[in-house]
Amino acid sequence: MPILTMPFDGPAPPTGATGPIQDRYDRQVRAFGRLAELTVAVVGLGGVGSQVVQSLAHLGVGGLLLVDPDTVTATNLNRLIGAKPADVARAATKVTVAARTVRTINPQVRVRGIAGSILDPVVWQQVRPAEVIVGAVDGHAPRWALNRLAVQYARCYLDVGVELGPAPRPEQPDDHDQEASSRVRLEAGGHLAVIRPGGPCLLCLCGYDPRLVDAELDPGLAAARRAAGYRVDDPAEPAPSVVFLNQIIAGYAVGELLNYVSLWRPPVRYLLVDAAVNGTTALDADRDPQCLACGPDSPRGLSDAAGPPSVARTTAPPAAHDAAGAPQNPNTQSSRYTSPSEPGPRNGSHHHDT
Ligand SMILES: [Zn+2]
Repeated sequence: MPILTMPFDGPAPPTGATGPIQDRYDRQVRAFGRLAELTVAVVGLGGVGSQVVQSLAHLGVGGLLLVDPDTVTATNLNRLIGAKPADVARAATKVTVAARTVRTINPQVRVRGIAGSILDPVVWQQVRPAEVIVGAVDGHAPRWALNRLAVQYARCYLDVGVELGPAPRPEQPDDHDQEASSRVRLEAGGHLAVIRPGGPCLLCLCGYDPRLVDAELDPGLAAARRAAGYRVDDPAEPAPSVVFLNQIIAGYAVGELLNYVSLWRPPVRYLLVDAAVNGTTALDADRDPQCLACGPDSPRGLSDAAGPPSVARTTAPPAAHDAAGAPQNPNTQSSRYTSPSEPGPRNGSHHHDT
């Protein structure tokens, strides 16, 4: 699909009855200040991304870069903010829908829509002007590309994901608890990872698996890994998705974005949200001094002196795997997390449908 790019400033906003509303930000400025100078990129405009966009328009963020290669389908309509049945009929891009949502809420926001993939080097470079990047993407490869952007240009990067699916059966079911035995068992939750300039990157936080990045970038390798018994998440595989979970995760992301701009609480590094028990767990980690993505041989802080990432393989061909047959990720070691009771972020074994 060709990349369709809208001009950053767009058409002049309508005036008259819907003209400038001087005090529209009064209630939030009292707590968080103004955001008119801020430019935020939202990459991935599905269930979570569209919620984030809607909130940022209400907040009065000055500039929005909206990135997604996809068009609206009928199954998106249960969660895609601003999408209408007519958008399905005319195969509207998600970028078009998100930009329309922003303009409807707040014509003063400068919006630029890019209907392309963050894995396209041309698109990747167009995201550079954003001071904050919200990544609401499926899969490991887009997370790798966004992490590279954040590390190379010292940007704040918030990675979000939602997980929803059947929960494993308890080993010892309680036969006396009729209510529990009739309940639908679901794993429902998500995560928020916050990458700040100078801090641990998404790979330090085990937020993606380099070997699965390779598998996603190389369709032939992905097929070979499936044939060999590896689980390779397929972003095209339909996964359950529901609007309230997206709202929860998007809410945490927007709250932390405000926290980055105007510190109002201890910063979050990695937040696990479990909607099945109404609980959250905050995790922390240090930078990995040998991290492949932000360590000594990385493009950390090089800005334009290093180019866009090559979408060729990022690691050597996979050879080692553990006894269970799962690929080993040298950066996936939950023991590095400082919260002792939690397993740490999970890679490659859950749907991340955003
Ligand atoms: Zn790192």
